[in-house]
Parts: sequence; C-alpha cells; structure tokens
Amino acid sequence: MLMLLALVFTLTLSAKPKIRIIATGGTIAGVSASATSSAYGAGQVGIQTLIDAVPQIKELADVSGEQLVNIGSQDMNDAVWLKLAKRINQLLSGDYDGVLVTHGTDTMEETAYFLSLTVHSDKPVILVGSMRPSTAISADGPANLYNGVAALVDPSSKGHGVMACMNNQLIDAKSLIKTHTTDCATFKGTYGEMGYVYNGKPYYIFEPTYKHTTRSIFNVDNLEKLPKVGIIYGYANCSTLPIEAFFKADFDGIVLAGVGDGNFYKDVFDVAVQMQESGTQIVRASRVPTGPTCLNGEVDDSKYHFVAALNLNPQKARVLLQLALTKTRDWQQIQKYFQEY
Ligand code: ASP
Repeated sequence: MLMLLALVFTLTLSAKPKIRIIATGGTIAGVSASATSSAYGAGQVGIQTLIDAVPQIKELADVSGEQLVNIGSQDMNDAVWLKLAKRINQLLSGDYDGVLVTHGTDTMEETAYFLSLTVHSDKPVILVGSMRPSTAISADGPANLYNGVAALVDPSSKGHGVMACMNNQLIDAKSLIKTHTTDCATFKGTYGEMGYVYNGKPYYIFEPTYKHTTRSIFNVDNLEKLPKVGIIYGYANCSTLPIEAFFKADFDGIVLAGVGDGNFYKDVFDVAVQMQESGTQIVRASRVPTGPTCLNGEVDDSKYHFVAALNLNPQKARVLLQLALTKTRDWQQIQKYFQEY
C-alpha cells in the first residue's frame, strides 16, 4: 500500500503540463526552395514536423498536436474560426492545461481577438507564427514555438486571455497589431506588450481589463455560421461602389475604416445612413493605426445610431460586430459591447 502511494506521489510530481498544439498553417509551416530566398509558400509543413523541429518543448510539457487546416492566414475564414474556437473549448474543458495555435501572421490579430471572445476558460491560449519560413536561415518559428510553450506551462499565464507570443513578446489579443509587412519584429501591442519571455520564463507587466474568455458572453459552440460583416476603406474622393455592393448583398453589418477619427466621404456617409435606417449596423472605425474612434466626436453617432469602434481597429471591430449581431440588433447595446470588450 505504501509503495503504491509512493508511486502515485512520484507520478503526480513528475507529471508535466498537458499542452495541445493546433496547427493551422502560415509561414511557420512555410517552405522555400532556398534557405536565402524570400519567395516561399505558406502552410506546407505538418504539425509533427513542427513539433519535431523543437525537441526542447518535450522537456517543458507533455506535448501533442493536431492539424486543423494548413492554409496561409490570408485564407482564414469564419468557418475555420468556429471550428477552432469549438475545439479549444473542448480541449480546455478536459484535462489539457493550455493550447498553442500555430497561425499565419497576416490575420493572427483577428483570430486572436475572436478566440479571446469565444474561448471560455482561464487556461492560457497562445498563438505563434513566424515571419521567415521553416527552411530559412535564422527561421524565427522554432524560438516562437518554444517561448509559446514555455509561457503556456507557467502558472502566471492563467487568466490573461488569449495572447500572441512573437519575437519574445507576449501581446494581448485586443492590442495585437501587425505593423510591418516583412520584419520579424512586426507585432506590437497598441498599448505596449503585456509581457515577454526570457530564458524560458514569462514575465507579465499588466493584465487586460477588458472582458474576455471567462467574462465573455459570446458563445459560438452551437453556431454554424456568423453574421455577414464587411469593411469599407476610406480615402479622398471615395467611391460609393463598394458600400452599395454590400447594401445590395444584404450584409448584416458594415465597419467603416474611416479617415481620421472615423470620418467618411460625404457620398459614402449618405449611403451609410440609408443602410443604418434599413437595419444594417454601421460601426465607425479608423484607418489610422493608433488612437480611439470617439463616440459622438466629429460624427453625431446618437443621431444616426452608428456605433463608434473606440479602441478597436477595423478588422477587430468586424469580429466584435459579428459576435454582437449574434446577440442583438440594438445599436445602444452594441455600443455597450464596444465599451466592454
Ligand atoms: N501569408 C502568411 C500567412 O499569414 C504570412 C505569415 O504567416 O507570416 O499565413
């Protein structure tokens, strides 16, 4: 009996955290014909090859993987998001201690934000990718993968919501933004990085105060599709053709990536007013990379029933509007969601 207890005790002590890696493709799984070329194809290497390339992660955790899709993240879509969120909820409600998602960098910020609103666990979820393909000299994927797993297994990572681990930094989903087309240091946090990983250990500087994961009311576990929301880009002498096309195609919502504080060319503005009146929710965001789009600033949102995106960029405002429209069509309630999330 004593020996059995001792065995159980030793096994418990030596049990490593159980981490699942879900691979979706991207440059981290990319292959180039030559180690020096910057021409490559994303999403070609499978999950097992990625895991085998970084044997050190097995010292940190009991790691296993699965391939959800193998795509460049320019091809990310609602169907994959739904599948991914459902799968992570399933894994984290079981005995997994954390999930690492390998992902292309192009739309990583949107997937991270979507997951931060639809995964309902305080166990950590971290996205990693790379800017250089796996075959490049000085590929950045293996270090990002190692740091991601190192952060996942550390107890201090619980409750921070969904984050990305890129170039030694831990950035929260709402703040995460790709700022450079090709540089390895492309990801920044609009409000700074939440933490960093150094010598295989995460260090956190702050915690997000917005609602996410366990405090989020958005649940996609029983959804098969999401509302249709498009983005209109603003510029001088802006054409009304794209917004009219969305109008005809009966979209549920539109995000205006406006100029300045979410302003829009007068002709486009007129169509936006008509759309809002006929039941399509308009959200004003900005093409300017930093700073909020203010409620009732230069535009009288209360008069037109528009919603101001506040601190969300257009692509993340689109994500929140899609989820908000699964709950309500009331513009004031939707504005409240933009304040809370
Ligand atoms: N186009 C690639 C992707 O997003 C770029 C990358 O992963 O860095 O999948």
